[in-house]
Amino acid sequence: MRKLIIANWKMNMLRREAIHFITNIAEQQDIDLAIVPSFLSIKELKEVALDKNILIGSQNMSEHNHGAYTGEVSATMLKDVGCDFVLLGHSERRKIFLESNQVIAKKVERAVVEDMPFVLCVGETLDEKEQGETEEVIDHMLEEALSSLMDAHWNKVSIAYEPVWAIGTGKVASVEIISQVHNFIRSKLEELAGEKASEIRILYGGSVKSENIKEILSINNVDGALVGGASLEALTFNQLISEVGI
Ligand code: PEP
Repeated sequence: MRKLIIANWKMNMLRREAIHFITNIAEQQDIDLAIVPSFLSIKELKEVALDKNILIGSQNMSEHNHGAYTGEVSATMLKDVGCDFVLLGHSERRKIFLESNQVIAKKVERAVVEDMPFVLCVGETLDEKEQGETEEVIDHMLEEALSSLMDAHWNKVSIAYEPVWAIGTGKVASVEIISQVHNFIRSKLEELAGEKASEIRILYGGSVKSENIKEILSINNVDGALVGGASLEALTFNQLISEVGI
């Protein structure tokens, strides 16, 4: 499986900065690359990205498709501007915007109905880790979001394991933890998706940078990375992706 590196820009970058950034990204032959900018840059970035073979995603999406939902953006609207996929259940959405597993499950359902590929983010908090609840928490998140999916849907699914305590903290999870949790996620996917499980990408996210990306991607069942902080400057991000190809 080709590795996938996703840059999650969160609420950063104006349109002109985003365009400048993407024009300075070195083209990649051996890995897949994706950028997840603010809603407002998706259309313009998609136009530039076509020539560079970079996917453009969205950081969020409504579980509804139209109607009186002030401030929301639907899957159809995202498709209309050329968005290739959506992140669902990022820990910042769960924590700051109080998205529950139930809401995220509805978003997954919507993504499936609208034929929108998605990356489902799962991960435990520091407290849950210290209580030894990591696998239980992740099992629950996967079960709630994915248990209603049918055979035909699994090719739209990727998973990102993002331990909350490692996001934006500089504390990367150890090789042992990443390996253990990714193996656990793969076996849970086997339970849910049967034979299709081996084709589902499982990405790691949490303080990934050019110094650790190579080691992380060499771990069994790590099919890519979701990168926040280290994706915000073209120079740093180019360094990071060049490490993957070496
Ligand atoms: C993220 O927000 O998805 C993320 C992984 O952030 P960072 O790389 O900054 O830890």
